Amino acid sequence: MTLNSQITLRTAVILPFILIFLCAFGVITMVQDANYEEMAKDISRKQLSALRHNVELELDSFLYKPLQASLVLSHSIELHRLYQTHDVSAIQSAMLSKFSQLYNSVSQLDNVGFGGKAGEYVGLRKETADNYSLMLQDNLHHQGLVIYQTHEVSNNIRSVIKNYDPRLRPWYKPLAGTEEPRWSAIYANADERQEVTLSSIAPVHYNNELQGVVVADVKLSTFNDFLSQQQNSSGAIIYLFDETKRLIAHSTGGSIISWGTEHSLKGQRLLTSESSNAVIQSSADYTNSHPLPTENLLFTSNVEGERYFHLITPYTDHNGLSWYIGVAISEHGLLGKMLESQQNSWAMGLLISGIGIVIGLFAFNRVVMPITSTANAAKQLAQGNWDSELPKPGNIYETSMLVRAFNDMADSLKASFEEISFQLLYDSLTKLYSREGLVKTCGKFEQLNGCLVLIGINKFRHINDSMGHLSGDQLLVIIAERIKATFAEEALLARIGGDEFAVYFPQPQSNQDVSLAVGRIQQMFASPYNMGKENVIIQASLGIVQDLDSADMTTWLRNGSIALSNAKQEQASVSHYKPEMADISRNKTRMLAKIKQAIEEQEFVPYYQPIVDIQSGEVIGAEALARWLSPTDGLISPLEFISIAEESGFISAIGRQILSKACHDTVEGIEQGKWSHDFHLHVNLSVNQLAHTDLIFELETILEESKLPANNLTLEITESRLVDNDPVTIRNMQAIRDLGIQIAIDDFGTGYSSLAYLHKLPFDCLKIDRTFINKLDIQNLENSIVAAVINMTQGMKVDIVAEGIETTEQAELLKQLHCPQGQGFLYSRPVPFEEWPTDLVNMKS
Ligand code: C2E
Ligand code: CA
Ligand code: CA
Repeated sequence: MTLNSQITLRTAVILPFILIFLCAFGVITMVQDANYEEMAKDISRKQLSALRHNVELELDSFLYKPLQASLVLSHSIELHRLYQTHDVSAIQSAMLSKFSQLYNSVSQLDNVGFGGKAGEYVGLRKETADNYSLMLQDNLHHQGLVIYQTHEVSNNIRSVIKNYDPRLRPWYKPLAGTEEPRWSAIYANADERQEVTLSSIAPVHYNNELQGVVVADVKLSTFNDFLSQQQNSSGAIIYLFDETKRLIAHSTGGSIISWGTEHSLKGQRLLTSESSNAVIQSSADYTNSHPLPTENLLFTSNVEGERYFHLITPYTDHNGLSWYIGVAISEHGLLGKMLESQQNSWAMGLLISGIGIVIGLFAFNRVVMPITSTANAAKQLAQGNWDSELPKPGNIYETSMLVRAFNDMADSLKASFEEISFQLLYDSLTKLYSREGLVKTCGKFEQLNGCLVLIGINKFRHINDSMGHLSGDQLLVIIAERIKATFAEEALLARIGGDEFAVYFPQPQSNQDVSLAVGRIQQMFASPYNMGKENVIIQASLGIVQDLDSADMTTWLRNGSIALSNAKQEQASVSHYKPEMADISRNKTRMLAKIKQAIEEQEFVPYYQPIVDIQSGEVIGAEALARWLSPTDGLISPLEFISIAEESGFISAIGRQILSKACHDTVEGIEQGKWSHDFHLHVNLSVNQLAHTDLIFELETILEESKLPANNLTLEITESRLVDNDPVTIRNMQAIRDLGIQIAIDDFGTGYSSLAYLHKLPFDCLKIDRTFINKLDIQNLENSIVAAVINMTQGMKVDIVAEGIETTEQAELLKQLHCPQGQGFLYSRPVPFEEWPTDLVNMKS
């Protein structure tokens, strides 16, 4: 799992919790909502039905009385045959008495009239209570329809309507030919008020003839009052409309007559869709896309964000009415507080859950805090910040357990860290600082301007090898103690390598101080060290660093090492660091890289210097001397690379190349007849090579490859380097001779070798170093070292070669001493194989 896809423990715990909460909340909401819906539907149906029922009852009684009035009047006229052509006065008085007695209190009934078959009209119109206007058209007057101010004919006339013919009115026409009373269509009145009117009409029949029609007008606007009363008490909007969807009455106030829109003609009743009330409009939207119901039609609509429940039911009666009652109520009006309290309870629930979650988070944080602070502390520890604050256990069992366990672990880690850093900073053997310890301790100083002395024990490896490692360690401890006893007060002391110690004086030291310190150190090694049974004399070399412009002890130590190795090489025992030394050692490093490449490129070749029989001057052999033919630097002398190659171990590879080429050359020389069959090939062998275990195998391989007989080959080993009497070395020398190869001791006399020790070595030839040849003169010829060596080896069956013969005098003296063989510039300088034979003019005598 990558870090990105990880979630926090908090999320892992809280998230499912919140999800469950949301699910539960959602389900409850859904169920509640469904219940609520169900209930809302149920309540709305009941409420609306009840309302409609009220309206229906009211409407029944509203319409019943006018209908009753027209029937009563028509019956009365029929019964008493009150109608005489051109005389409606009998009807007039009957009408007046009925109206004033029976119908005065019927507010919706405001007009009762009779139209005769000959075009007469008599009617009473209610103006105020007990005050009627008489409307009359008979033949007596011939003026048209006259409307009087009172119920009597007088000069007090309100208005006159010319050319009025009742038989053409909408309430007369439908009844022509029928005998049943019925409702007229809704129309606007012909009088000056032009009110929306519905008339109950009843025919007057006798003599098998329609005599006329009684009409009782219902002022529909009065029904609006009832409806708006209902709206006030129930909050419901109620409206009546007919089959053409034109409004008849409504509870919302305002006229139902169009005052001129694009759709409706002026004076016409409004369509429900034209109502000024948005709720009625919304129901019209619905009924326009759905058929009008034969029974109940329930639906809902949305008006201005509020939901309305609608009920539309047909309203019919036996007298030809086919209307519809529409009732609509808003959700608020219906359920009122319930809706709000429902919403409030949701809000409350949400609020409580929110608070719950916050408290939960808070509590959870408290729980998690020890874990997070433990993690942080662990991070600090990982960064090596050992002094960072450890987490505190909280109040929870498990996390406290974790924190305590962590703190225990951190404590023991801290302890082992301290232990390790102690081990790192101090040398376990001598209890002095280690190299790191010295560097770290000096890192705390602002600047380093004191003096550093490195003490290197000479030939410590030799001591270790001959006395054993335990004794070696013991010796180091004793040396450390001597150093401590001498300098503990004034200097920092460290063991910086196997056999190297460092003494750093932090205070600036004068030259005198330094030589004083050097003297005290040399004093430490002036007397032998007592190691149990033995007393051991040891020597030390000193490398001194002063006035170094570096605040870094590592640099001081590196320069100290350079000075120390310089001291060892020069056998000067004390060496002060100089920047040039660094150059030398840097050159060495560069040289090493070059040598390594030169080995790969096979740039090392042998040059041959003849070895001659001094007596006869005959060439009996040659010494192969390494030359480096560098394509960039030209011919390089072995003096420049042999010692570096020996230090680094590259000498083996170089030696192998030289030996192999020399063997091949010799075989070729013999084959060419250039060299005799018993030609002595001398090749130098480094002690490094001699210490190698697989040297013998390599020699065998080379001899085999080159086909050079072993007894043609002599290996030269420098005598002074042989002092370490390493068992492998001696064994290898033996094995070399067993192969049939001869061994020559090179540079004999330069080492400290005693002649007694020489007897232990297996060898076939001694090469006397050229320093002794140089010193030869006639006066003390017999006492010369050359003479001593020749005498000493008489009867030992070894060859003697005098090296470095440069003059004929030297050659002459050696002849007198019976030195058998010689080598030197007198005869020839070393030359490449191809240039052989050389000019050997001086030899033959
Ligand atoms: P070395 O083995 O003692 O070789 C003789 C050195 O003396 C050679 O120096 C030679 O050129 C020089 N020499 C010969 N005759 C005279 C003379 O009359 N006067 C003077 N002044 N010098 C003379 P070179 O060739 O420079 O070699 C130096 C040393 O390098 C050798 O000393 C030998 O120790 C080492 N060396 C050379 N080649 C090899 C090699 O292949 N392997 C190893 N391990 N060492 C080698
Ligand atoms: Ca040699
Ligand atoms: Ca030599």
